[in-house]
Amino acid sequence: MKSTKKFMLPESEMPKQWYNILADMPVKPKPLLNPATNEPLLPVEMEAIFAKELTIQEFSGKRWHDIPDQVQELYKMYRPSPLVRAYALEKELDTPARIFFKNESVSPVGSHKLNTAIPQAYYNKLQGIKHLTTETGAGQWGTAMSLACKHFGLDLTVFMVKQSYLAKPYRKVVMGIYGAQVHASPSKKTAYGREVLAKDPECGGSLGMAISEAIEMAVTGKETRYVLGSVLNHVILHQTVIGLEAEKQMEMAGFFPDKVIACFGGGSNFSGISFPFLRHKLKGEKQLEFIAAEPEACPKLTRGEFRYDFGDTAHLTPLIPMYTLGNEFSPEQIHAAGLRYHGGGQLVSQLKQDGFITSTAISQKESFKAGVLFAAAEGIVPAPESNHAIAAVIREAIKARESGKAETILFNLSGHGHLDLGAYSEMA
Ligand SMILES: *Cc1c(COP(=O)(O)O)cnc(C)c1O
Repeated sequence: MKSTKKFMLPESEMPKQWYNILADMPVKPKPLLNPATNEPLLPVEMEAIFAKELTIQEFSGKRWHDIPDQVQELYKMYRPSPLVRAYALEKELDTPARIFFKNESVSPVGSHKLNTAIPQAYYNKLQGIKHLTTETGAGQWGTAMSLACKHFGLDLTVFMVKQSYLAKPYRKVVMGIYGAQVHASPSKKTAYGREVLAKDPECGGSLGMAISEAIEMAVTGKETRYVLGSVLNHVILHQTVIGLEAEKQMEMAGFFPDKVIACFGGGSNFSGISFPFLRHKLKGEKQLEFIAAEPEACPKLTRGEFRYDFGDTAHLTPLIPMYTLGNEFSPEQIHAAGLRYHGGGQLVSQLKQDGFITSTAISQKESFKAGVLFAAAEGIVPAPESNHAIAAVIREAIKARESGKAETILFNLSGHGHLDLGAYSEMA
């Protein structure tokens, strides 16, 4: 019999609930703090910024959360995503390891980000919010949010980190097609942006600055809220749809992973694929490893400090207990702009602190070499961010070759690189 390459789940088997790992963590993370009082933040204090249901999810200890019917329907635009056995890559690496990847690049916006953009737009709409604001680095989150807002008839303003705005013009075009307004950040649209520009008119911006601008506009605007594409607990909750599908698909394939690997920016795709599998480790049912692949230019988990820090540069967010390189940290301009965030978020950071997950730092050069090797073997040109996961997989597959161990590796292909070809040609 011929071997199966793609494991497709029928729509009827799609997850009907998201998984909240907080319920199963042996050590709960420390609370978010209100920086004005240093007291634990209350959910209501977040409601001026985020839709109410999202703040409830942010603080929830409930293990399972129902996925609303309308969200399930919209997920069917591209879900379930395929689980693929990377036979050609295995052969190329001459490894006894079995390599599987979950292909999140099949979403219409080309990345996993739509998994949370859809529910975030849905809950805001349900509450009667009319305008949303957000930031975007490489443009993937802004693109996903633009499509979700288009669907629900919401207005969206996107602050795009200026140097990406200039370097990645096509993402801006896509956001425009979906009807969003895009500003290069720092911009003249906010008091904070004007303050930064007064000091440094040439400032290329950062994710931390763009977040500050988007939050300022949300709290000063009428019927306006802010949405964030990573880091926060409710974002990670929505992304568990990746791992929950993968769990069923790995069962179809007849293997359970020994290692789960994903690239790490703010932690949403890593957590999304990992947490449903990690719950079996937390319960003591399975032994497996989780590896977060970070860029050497921004290695928050590998080389950051575990402490309270702000999520943005203007200090408008609560204080978050997390691995951080410091909110003022300005990483060098790497092509994987989606991995240039300074912090690791509350859940992942606590799990790292308690030894349940590990991380590794990958150079830009190694990541692109891995991406090109993967593309030549499997045909898909990965996003520069995803290349970090692939590089980590290749390291593990080579170790398996050396030890002769036929282990099973699962990784998340968080997105494709069709709008990053400029980066590929520069790195060639
Ligand atoms: C945004 C993005 C990332 C990084 O964000 P996480 O929240 O860490 O997942 C990785 N890959 C792609 C394709 C992205 O768009």
